[in-house]
Amino acid sequence: MFSVSNFCKTSSILLRFERYRHKTHWAKLKRKTSPKHKAMNHFDEFYSSVFGKQWVPMKEALQRRSKYVAVVNNYGDTEETIELLHSRGAHCLKQLMSVQQEFHTQYKPAESNTKENSNTRMEDFTSRLQTDEISSIYPQGDQIPERLQTKDMTLQRDSDVLVEAEQKTEVRAQTLEQSLAQAEIDTSRIIDPSMGVTAESLYQYIPATQLKGMDEWIPESLYYSYYNKSKDFPLTIEPETEFTFPENLKVYTYEKDSDYSDFPQPKRCSTGVFNYYPLDCGSVLSVLALCLSPSDRVLDLCGAPGGKALLALQTLLPSRLVANDSSMSRTNRIKRIFKDYLIDFDTNNKWSEQVTISTKDGRIYTDDLGFDKILVDAPCTTDRHSITEDDNNLFRADRVKERLRIPELQAALLINALRLVKVGGAVVYSTCTLSPIQNDGVVHMALKAAFETHGIIAHVRDLTAPLSCLSTTLNLGAGASKPKYGQLVVPSVGANFGPTYFTRLVRVK
Ligand code: SAM
Repeated sequence: MFSVSNFCKTSSILLRFERYRHKTHWAKLKRKTSPKHKAMNHFDEFYSSVFGKQWVPMKEALQRRSKYVAVVNNYGDTEETIELLHSRGAHCLKQLMSVQQEFHTQYKPAESNTKENSNTRMEDFTSRLQTDEISSIYPQGDQIPERLQTKDMTLQRDSDVLVEAEQKTEVRAQTLEQSLAQAEIDTSRIIDPSMGVTAESLYQYIPATQLKGMDEWIPESLYYSYYNKSKDFPLTIEPETEFTFPENLKVYTYEKDSDYSDFPQPKRCSTGVFNYYPLDCGSVLSVLALCLSPSDRVLDLCGAPGGKALLALQTLLPSRLVANDSSMSRTNRIKRIFKDYLIDFDTNNKWSEQVTISTKDGRIYTDDLGFDKILVDAPCTTDRHSITEDDNNLFRADRVKERLRIPELQAALLINALRLVKVGGAVVYSTCTLSPIQNDGVVHMALKAAFETHGIIAHVRDLTAPLSCLSTTLNLGAGASKPKYGQLVVPSVGANFGPTYFTRLVRVK
């Protein structure tokens, strides 16, 4: 007969068997649930579905030490620094690109069916995830509301993100009592089959009896629902023709698969500033994508710690640069970097006329004059960091909501940048994630919302042709990893830059 003691014995044997099977100490098994392991599990599942075989070498590179380029400081001992970098076997990126350019005189567009492949992979993944979630909420036999059975997960709220950001600042100023006094019954939590089929509504469809203890529950598919490629607004992708490498920008790099990859530590020059700034080559490309011109008024909306803003200044092109970030401690890091690289940054009036550092929420940043160029280097899942460091990791259990809603924040920042840029000006949106949701997905969502809410039209400028001459330096996504709207710097062991996604949007209306 089966007794409680028999059951305990059996489960103890099973547990021991599990331990034996894994040949792993319990403490180690426990550590596997740490944020960086969660991140790796998530990326393994998601990226292998989207990128197929390409994911394995990307993953290997992400776990290794990343590579940097050296941005020579124009305010230091420039010639001496260039000599030093040359002597270490580094090449000038501008020269490498122009040599390669000769071999790439004709632009060959990527085959459209490969783009469709990556889109189809994303749709398959999203729909599988949604089906799994629905069946976990409505186990066998339970009735699934009719409209939830559809595959379509249109994001209803994308045009409201900015308004929501504005409202959030008001909400923070209220006390709990004030909020309660103004509270209304949230009728959206009463099941209404006519409601839109969003992942949020999936959340709202949970029967009230199951809601207890699940207040914080948020479906993973919310994140994937941000990927919606329906083309129901004016969307133009055209080849970039204005791209040039800024005359005064001096970037040094080692070629792909080179035995050398290390630079010496930056050191102080006779002018008191450091001789070069180490930066990921992907970050250099997102600034190059701005196509800066003399006298540009430039905004770096999410600017801390300041590497890309510094790079923009090293082109000697902007007449004015605003480096903004919502975090006070991080804007202090911008100040520190500017002090380390720009002569007399604290004391020379010339800098205060040219450079402003501000601490504002980029979603509600306002400006009367309009900017010529805006960089939105958005907060993201920082894939390389997420799988290697537990500190400040977005995959921590208490940051689930923040992580799943990150595309919403990114889109709100991009929509505001599209409002702030002048007609004829350009916005570059960039991230350091491989996620098609936070990359193409957010760009699509923001372009759609900017058009529907503000009548703004921006064209996507395809940088494939001008950047094809980077093939001896780094890997840009191709086939399943080629984004539709931007470029993706794909990490590889021989050229361990990135991941960096960037897209150039030129406002035409
Ligand atoms: N561009 C920076 C550089 O090159 O050094 C890196 C930017 S980092 C990827 C993203 C930044 O966005 C973080 O510093 C974060 O504090 C900032 N951020 C997050 N939410 C923001 C918001 N609502 N408005 C402005 N900045 C925000």
